[in-house]
Amino acid sequence: MQATAADPLVSRLIEAAVAAIDANAERLSDLDRAIGDGDHGINMQRGFSAIAAQQAELAAQPLGPALEAMGKVLVMTVGGASGPLYGSLLMAMGRAAAGEGASLNAMLEQGVAAVKKRGRSEAGEKTMLDVLVPVQQAVAAASAEGLGREQTLARARRAAEDGLESTRPLVARKGRAVFLRERSVGHLDPGACSSCLLVDAVCGVLAEEPQS
Ligand code: ADP
Ligand code: MG
Repeated sequence: MQATAADPLVSRLIEAAVAAIDANAERLSDLDRAIGDGDHGINMQRGFSAIAAQQAELAAQPLGPALEAMGKVLVMTVGGASGPLYGSLLMAMGRAAAGEGASLNAMLEQGVAAVKKRGRSEAGEKTMLDVLVPVQQAVAAASAEGLGREQTLARARRAAEDGLESTRPLVARKGRAVFLRERSVGHLDPGACSSCLLVDAVCGVLAEEPQS
């Protein structure tokens, strides 16, 4: 096999995502303790540590295959419901990145569709989709309006934060929090929180990328 130069974008994305999850693992588990089983921080840390351990191999691949490989690592290592969901997200985004006319918009569209399919869920059910769907819609709108990168990323971050906050008054309709019924009201969803952290980390990296 031919040696390829490591993709600095893949490395930066991995480092930013791992740092965001590590710094917030306790918060994610606290949120999950309130409406789930308290393991979301640990689950995510396990998955992203496994990705970090493979950083060199992952960064030796182009973005698309690297994202697909990261998705597979998450499916195999995270353990909780969030593993297959984040795995589906990254695998679909990776496939879209490798396809014709790849754009952030197309990647998010495919990624969110894959999470919906895997989770049999929609936005409004107090899950990670309450962040991922508005982020995808914000990026789609920014692209339709012809906005530049800075404004697009600012809108994506804002949509993620608003999306996370939108989970607070919702009754959980998917995942373990369903068992709490009305008692899930008043708490942020842990998966929406990890999605918000990851969107923020990715936007931070993309904002620093040289303009193509
Ligand atoms: P588990 O629920 O198995 O302990 P985690 O604690 O790691 O797994 O992840 C819980 C998060 O997964 C929830 O906060 C929610 O955001 C997300 N989630 C669970 N089920 C679904 C689903 N069907 N669709 C979308 N997201 C879901
Ligand atoms: Mg849990």
